[in-house]
Amino acid sequence: MDIDAIKQGLLQRVNESESPREILKAPEFRDMYSKITSLPKEERGAFGRQVNEVKQAVEQAIEARESELESVAQAPIDVTAPFDVNTGRPLLLPTDQGSTHPLMQEIETVSGIFNRMGFVVEESREIDDQFHMFESLNFPKGHPARDDYDTFMTIQKDKDGEPFIAPAHTSTMQNRVLQKYAANLEVGEPIAAVVPDRVFRNEDLDARHEHTFYQVEGVYVNKGVNVGNLVATLQRFLEEYYGRKLNVRVNPFYFPFTEPSFEFALECPFCEDGCSVCSDSKWIELLGCGMIHPNVLKAANIDPAVYTGFAFGCGIDRLVMMKYGIEDVRHFESGKLSFLRQF
Ligand SMILES: [Zn+2]
Repeated sequence: MDIDAIKQGLLQRVNESESPREILKAPEFRDMYSKITSLPKEERGAFGRQVNEVKQAVEQAIEARESELESVAQAPIDVTAPFDVNTGRPLLLPTDQGSTHPLMQEIETVSGIFNRMGFVVEESREIDDQFHMFESLNFPKGHPARDDYDTFMTIQKDKDGEPFIAPAHTSTMQNRVLQKYAANLEVGEPIAAVVPDRVFRNEDLDARHEHTFYQVEGVYVNKGVNVGNLVATLQRFLEEYYGRKLNVRVNPFYFPFTEPSFEFALECPFCEDGCSVCSDSKWIELLGCGMIHPNVLKAANIDPAVYTGFAFGCGIDRLVMMKYGIEDVRHFESGKLSFLRQF
């Protein structure tokens, strides 16, 4: 273990970070601590002191970086007059009058991580048609799995006489994303996109269910893509998001638009022996995923005999609730300032 290289890497990340204190949760620290206990007794003292020096240096750098960020944030702005006295026009409100919604902040974080992994970010829409919600995703008319996606519909009908719907998942964008980037495949590039956006369900509301929430959809297609790529991609994303190494597992599941389909669980990031977040199970079922069904590729004019791909859909509210220990999903849409001001 090259302590000096680790230290230099951590210090560099502190100096580039907008939230430097997060670096204290970096997996490198965990690795160094577990190395201490694995050493023979007589070597522990010396190694432990080296680790301590790294931690102190990082903490000092964090303090310096924090005051640097603070001085930028506090650059003097004249906020005494709400209107420009000369023109009578309202001035831009100072930033202490508001803040970014915690879900928007986290969507930026999630998008940033996938961006660095080579995914482009696309937007969804808030009204869509039955073709994108169902048919293009291998749910033919009358398919019983349609009942699992109970959402809101319009009185107005589309050209086929079907009502428009408020999308119940971001997978409504799969067909569009596959078609938009299909030309990538011809030049040997993958289709790699995420869609973080708002979705809707007709739900009885409680601490875990909201009628409006956020998902991030992911789609990756190329030659020779397999389940191992899917698991590794999601694991890397979750480790980046929670800032530590995590074990993951997949269990077989059923979705019409993936085959095989999986439920993806991660080791609880908050405990070693069970806690309230994981209901003492040490695992958290987090998202649905699988290999894109050949019919879904065909619906986008991609040949499933040549190309394979994976897709996943992950609830963003849940990710954020777990990260910050938020106990009730309804807080997000409540407009309660006492909640929002904590972020
Ligand atoms: Zn736990």
